[in-house]
Amino acid sequence: MLDVVIANGKAVLPSGAEAADIGVAGGKIVAIGAPGALAAIGAKRTVDATGQIVIPGGIDPHVHCRWPMPTPGQTQHNLTDGPDVVSKAALFGGTTTILDFALVDGDNTVQQAIERRQKEWAGDCACDYAFHVMVQGKLDWAVPDQIAEAVQAGHATVKMFTTDITPSRKGRMVPFGSIMEVLTVLAKAGGLAAIHAEDNDLVMHMYEKLTREGRTSFHNMAEVHTTLSEDLAFNRVIRLAANIPGCALYMLHTSAATGVKAIATARNDGVPIYGETLHQYLMYSAEDYKRPNGQIYHTYPSLKFAEDHAALWDGTDHGAIQTVATDEICCPLKFKLQGNKIDDTTGGNAGVEPRVSLMYTETVEKRGYDLTQFVNLVSTNAAKIMGMYPRKGALAIGSDADIVLLDTRKRHLVKAEEMHEADYSPWEGRDLACWPSMTLLRGKIAVDNGAFTGALSDGQHLSRKVPDDIRSRPAV
Ligand SMILES: [Zn+2]
Repeated sequence: MLDVVIANGKAVLPSGAEAADIGVAGGKIVAIGAPGALAAIGAKRTVDATGQIVIPGGIDPHVHCRWPMPTPGQTQHNLTDGPDVVSKAALFGGTTTILDFALVDGDNTVQQAIERRQKEWAGDCACDYAFHVMVQGKLDWAVPDQIAEAVQAGHATVKMFTTDITPSRKGRMVPFGSIMEVLTVLAKAGGLAAIHAEDNDLVMHMYEKLTREGRTSFHNMAEVHTTLSEDLAFNRVIRLAANIPGCALYMLHTSAATGVKAIATARNDGVPIYGETLHQYLMYSAEDYKRPNGQIYHTYPSLKFAEDHAALWDGTDHGAIQTVATDEICCPLKFKLQGNKIDDTTGGNAGVEPRVSLMYTETVEKRGYDLTQFVNLVSTNAAKIMGMYPRKGALAIGSDADIVLLDTRKRHLVKAEEMHEADYSPWEGRDLACWPSMTLLRGKIAVDNGAFTGALSDGQHLSRKVPDDIRSRPAV
């Protein structure tokens, strides 16, 4: 007897999309067969997915829950919403796994930072989750050994900034020597580096220049966080990594054609490097800063230009871009708008809920991508690169039964008031070609036709190990 059968849908299997029934028991996918083939086994519940597309649960590899936001004029920082809010929004939108960050700050060791974050999340997250370790500033000589230990313990990725981002965020940048030490230890220990790459010299120079010229409004963000900065910084990190045997890179929130080109060129040379972009960067440009409440489109580094859109989309189709994340910063509109200068505007965006359906609309419906390409961008590639595949990111026997039914029979208009994250959405009014009718997390129905049926105690922390083929060549 099966727990659940998802019947009569078009399932996006690792071998491609086909009409298939999926049988679930004990939280895992245990049977896949032609429509009707599993009926003989029997199931406690059969869900009719006629006319719907069945995909593995979405994976958002880049979110920030309960994260400090710059608060102009105040020393106390506001925090973004916690995993209790973001994980539910994720499930409503068809995402079953989110990757956040464990920041190593103060005198904390890497292990203490991870433990603190795990304590904070346990029982407070309705979907599955993991953390990238995040280190900042000049690193103590003990940190590389701690990173090696963390990788062995299943925390396979480390995030570093090559820039302070803004003058008021000073302290984020990891000096290049420290980056070299971390890349070296990750290469040996079997981890992966996730890099926020901008050229700090150029960025800080432009802050000074625009401040001097009295042009500090956030509208000028793309003049500070430039395509040239992305070009220089991506290539500098890539050259460093290419000189460290076994070093693999994941480039966070690629925003410019220059970044896409740097990744593509390195991949052609055999460097194990992967590109992430954000749906924000694929669909909004620096022109959107001029719209009312223009900050809601912003995330760091910055929105760019039409030619960058073209290159980013091309990257999603030709392999330089593997994942589409959100850089989720879930907060009320009043917090998102409180900064309006190049130095104090909040980054990130509220987008975890519409991400999967938005990407379906933009890739499959508008650009003719096949269903496998779409699923790769919102789920499978992140599972592979971040060391969770095939437990996550696949409709396959033995995989976790993280299953989403995308209902393409009716269109869906994005309205913040109907969603479950912020009180605004940068995607307000978007006409989407689908919306999830059901989300299962490890076999449990977490969202059923717009009703939340999960629990904050459902989410599990995922231990991750990046496979050797991902780390030795551009494997996806
Ligand atoms: Zn981020």
